[in-house]
Amino acid sequence: MGSEKEIMLSVEHLKKYFQVGRNQVLKAVDDVSFTIARGETLGLVGESGCGKTTCGRTCIGLYPKTSGTVSFCGKDVHSLSGRAKSEFRKKAQMVFQDPFGSLDPRMMVSDIIGEGIDIHRLAHGEKERRDRIYEVLEQVGLNSEHANRFAHEFSGGQRQRIGIARALAVKPEFMVLDEPVSALDVSIQAQIVNLLMGLQRSLGLTYLFVAHDLSVVKHISDRVAVLYLGTLVEITGSDELYRNPLHPYTKALLSAIPIPDPKVEQKRDVQRIRLEGEVPSPMNPAPGCRFCSRCRYATKACAETMPELKDQGNGHFVACRLYE
Ligand code: SF4
Repeated sequence: MGSEKEIMLSVEHLKKYFQVGRNQVLKAVDDVSFTIARGETLGLVGESGCGKTTCGRTCIGLYPKTSGTVSFCGKDVHSLSGRAKSEFRKKAQMVFQDPFGSLDPRMMVSDIIGEGIDIHRLAHGEKERRDRIYEVLEQVGLNSEHANRFAHEFSGGQRQRIGIARALAVKPEFMVLDEPVSALDVSIQAQIVNLLMGLQRSLGLTYLFVAHDLSVVKHISDRVAVLYLGTLVEITGSDELYRNPLHPYTKALLSAIPIPDPKVEQKRDVQRIRLEGEVPSPMNPAPGCRFCSRCRYATKACAETMPELKDQGNGHFVACRLYE
């Protein structure tokens, strides 16, 4: 699965379960596999509670896995120790969803950004440290004058720029962007997505971009993976997904995106599909297709066994009985 370029991140049969109480198991990520090539952006999309944030955090080693493997440049992320672990922590960074919650408002910007530089001993002396802080501030569209201000003095968009600067300061190669724009005003969202795209081009970064909205990842993603209740239901190139969605869940997600131009909206070839009800609980899920309870095409067979992701050609994978 994926392109023939160098694979940076390889996720194979990843499971991340949480024990809840004595008898309950929350299957947040349940047998998920994908790859991300160097320089690529994979969008990971699904509704709240589908496991996408847990998946991102497990990929970056913030959570231990239950089973499966996550390899970064060929090395098992969850078996790293000592120097190799520290090197991975530098190369793989995370940008968090909430720019208000993820930055200590009482810390100065220079301390927030300088923390990683200090931990990884990337600067020799105060001047080199300060120069690096100024450099990343400029890379994210801020400037050296912002370094001595406190996080609480900034707007949401500026705080997210600081969050990105904090991640960039240690010269990462891979970033998990965990809903980096969903807490921001729509007008600011495009600015942050454009900034991330520009940084990717200039610094050669690789992204896992987690979002609950397919419209957010459309322009930035090379490929998009759709997650439903801990399982991948579809993964393919971004253009292909938006032009030719196959899984009933992906179709419903896409049809929910409003098109601002009423003429285009009238002509859209994907009819609006109402997604009834909430995402069912990932606690002790039934054995069949997880989308069964909300799918208009569900049959008895769908409820019996989980459909596997199958290539429909050109690397367009879908897990649905309609395509077996
Ligand atoms: Fe719907 Fe069945 Fe396909 Fe699941 S396998 S998405 S229930 S048609």
